[in-house]
Amino acid sequence: MEKRVLIIGAGLSGLLCGKILSQRGFAVTILEQGAQAGGALQTFVREGIRFDTGFHSVGGLGPGEPLEQIFRPLGLMDLPWLPMEPDELIGCDDAFLRLSAGTEDERSHVLEPYQLSIWRLRGGGKTLADALALGQDIRLRKQVTSVENRTVTCADGSCFSADAVVSAIHPKALLRLLRDPVRKAWRTRIETRQDSPGIFTVNVKLRPGALPYINHSIFLSGKVMIHFGEPAPDGSARSLDLLAFDTGALPQTPPLRPAITQSLPSRPPLAADAASVMPGSELDTGALPQTPPLRPAITQSLPSRPPLAADAASVMPGSELDTGALPQTVMPGSERVSRALSLIHIAAQRLPGLPDAVEKYWTSTPQTWERFTGTPGGSAYGICKRGPEDYLAPQTPLPWLFLTGQNLGLHGILGTSVSALNTCNALNDIL
Ligand SMILES: Cc1cc2nc3c(=O)[nH]c(=O)nc-3n(C[C@H](O)[C@H](O)[C@H](O)COP(=O)(O)OP(=O)(O)OC[C@H]3O[C@@H](n4cnc5c(N)ncnc54)[C@H](O)[C@@H]3O)c2cc1C
Repeated sequence: MEKRVLIIGAGLSGLLCGKILSQRGFAVTILEQGAQAGGALQTFVREGIRFDTGFHSVGGLGPGEPLEQIFRPLGLMDLPWLPMEPDELIGCDDAFLRLSAGTEDERSHVLEPYQLSIWRLRGGGKTLADALALGQDIRLRKQVTSVENRTVTCADGSCFSADAVVSAIHPKALLRLLRDPVRKAWRTRIETRQDSPGIFTVNVKLRPGALPYINHSIFLSGKVMIHFGEPAPDGSARSLDLLAFDTGALPQTPPLRPAITQSLPSRPPLAADAASVMPGSELDTGALPQTPPLRPAITQSLPSRPPLAADAASVMPGSELDTGALPQTVMPGSERVSRALSLIHIAAQRLPGLPDAVEKYWTSTPQTWERFTGTPGGSAYGICKRGPEDYLAPQTPLPWLFLTGQNLGLHGILGTSVSALNTCNALNDIL
């Protein structure tokens, strides 16, 4: 009789495990809390522009390269992958890599696939999520609330039992759901792992024809990542995403200039925005009220400013995010606007025409991610990997329970895919 496997979470790792295990003859059911599959692969559309969330480019898909070897047997190389040029690293002291990977060896692993070849996908992460989801038994809006003795219970009261359970969510989130007693050392090992910071994102809609499309990502001063969205038919850029780690570890900025705060209309706090669309339907960005026109604010109020990141430090104390519950306070709208303007300003060092090219923008914060994927603190890349002590095995003290996803090894599409493959092999060895 075919063995049954339950997977918690339909992000990249859950979807990949489902696909691989199905190919190997297991009967797989995936339980996803959100309204659509994909986790960080999801996209959202604002005013006709599609924005990616946690997928912009991916390395290692060229012939014989590591990700190609995982994706080809799954039929994923038939998707419309588009080659990109190497990333542009400007003034980067690899600070952004230190946030998720500590050792030289680790950093070289992170960078290696990008040194091979870089790709984007027409339609973004959703194209990959849809291809992986095709034909799989995925139950949406099933938020798992407890796991005990091969049985998984969801918030709506439904229960599922199987021969094995794969947790494709953050291991700390799993611990909160797990009712079986487990070795204290294993629990402590997970609970004490530090998470990478979350990301503050500005999704920018550009005025038509205002900026040329650039076919690579730009990492600026180790603080801001610039990713262009798909180009318009005339070759101009239609959108770009600005990403900055939300960490207090970066230099302080002076208080906001009065001119900026005065130029902002009063805006409701994020909490209501986020609550109205979470979990899973779409990022809360669309629920934000309309942002005020940008250009006057940027050109008049934002002359040279030092780096952005301290804004984050002042509004995002880690303690607030470590509670495990939803944060008590969230980033106010005025802070979001000022941080968005700061990011645009920094990006203008490389793209001088950017401030004038911005038509509209939307933002998301680590709290957005916490609600969106259930990742504690909204950590972007999950558990930091500073060395072997931070790696987690797919096996757990319970022979029927397995871990997978970006938290086990390297993050990113490649790291997460390797993790999924490892988990399937570990499960295969036991069942
Ligand atoms: C802003 C950002 C940009 C990124 N850009 C890139 C990039 O350009 N290239 C790249 O290679 N990588 C990028 N990454 C990293 C990459 O997206 C991730 O490493 C990868 O997608 C993680 O997949 P996952 O399956 O481990 O987790 P997730 O995608 O977080 O999936 C977890 C899933 O579990 C579900 N879930 C959680 N709790 C429950 C529950 N209790 N019950 C049921 N379901 C639950 C969530 O809803 C979610 O669908 C980026 C990440 C971020 C945050």
